[in-house]
Amino acid sequence: ERARLAKLRRLPAVTTDGEEVELQANLEIPAELPLIAQAGAQGIGLLRTEFLFMNRTDLPDEEAQVQTYAGILEAMDGEPVTIRVLDWGGEKDIEALAEGVPALTGPNPALGLRGVRMLLKRPELLEAQFAAILRVAVKGPVRILLPMVTIPDEVKQAREIYERVARRLRRRGEKLPDPLPPLGAMIETPGAALAADAIALEADFFAIGTNDLAMYTLAVDRAEAEVAHLYDPLHPAVLRLVQFATEAALRLRMPVSVCGEMAGNPRLVPLLLGLGIRSLSMNASAIPRVKQAVRALEIADCARFARRVMEQSDPARIQELVMSFAKGPI
Ligand code: PEP
Ligand code: MG
Repeated sequence: ERARLAKLRRLPAVTTDGEEVELQANLEIPAELPLIAQAGAQGIGLLRTEFLFMNRTDLPDEEAQVQTYAGILEAMDGEPVTIRVLDWGGEKDIEALAEGVPALTGPNPALGLRGVRMLLKRPELLEAQFAAILRVAVKGPVRILLPMVTIPDEVKQAREIYERVARRLRRRGEKLPDPLPPLGAMIETPGAALAADAIALEADFFAIGTNDLAMYTLAVDRAEAEVAHLYDPLHPAVLRLVQFATEAALRLRMPVSVCGEMAGNPRLVPLLLGLGIRSLSMNASAIPRVKQAVRALEIADCARFARRVMEQSDPARIQELVMSFAKGPI
């Protein structure tokens, strides 16, 4: 089994009818880099940058960030890397609150100053992160991702800051790619998913974060054991939002990927491909099995299957359908 999965590493992620699917890795800490290389990922689809800010009492400066991003880009050796700017708040570690970052002690942190909201409130944090990423952007194909977007204006405001930082760097003689690396939005709240057509006009790409999307849609805290049984990314409400956001992107021919846990589940690959998704980012360890699933599928079957699933309104029935669509050794 190990040997078979290892052999898969060199085979392309392509369906039986020749449709290519991009399989990328999520990265939470740089220690995962060797795993990513082993898994045969086509780059990093979600580089979470929270690790830079954890277990310390001061903020990492621009220079330190430059070193970290440069190291990761060099390790990825020309493969694309999507760097998500700081997603502080929600269930993310608030113990290691860095100096000068607003305390996240409101009545409900998940609904408070999280992600891009906090960054727009503290633009110097966003500026330093944009600057650090831009300074290494000539080393490889980079994209920048904004977390917890809920309104188009957040992307617009972030882009203004992004372009201002780029102008300042160019004036200083820094060599930046032209055009600048794409600036995308996470779609991880119901509001963002339902306004995806409007957000698409401001963003260069979407990454659908099904972990938070399920949490916010179903009003179930990701970290709350008492309601864990209600946490279900296959709930039709979540699937309809994924579908709506995907279609908004596809209409504009804008890149869209899924990067929540759903993306790493081989059983959910037929559904996601059937909804039009062609790019998945997951834990590196999930890539071989997801690739195996992709290679056994035909797009027309996936599309027909997705239509059947999307007609259902009962989560249990959807679960049944998904489990019964086992085709090939998944
Ligand atoms: C998500 O919410 O689905 C996601 C990918 O982001 P994170 O898990 O880092 O919140
Ligand atoms: Mg998220």
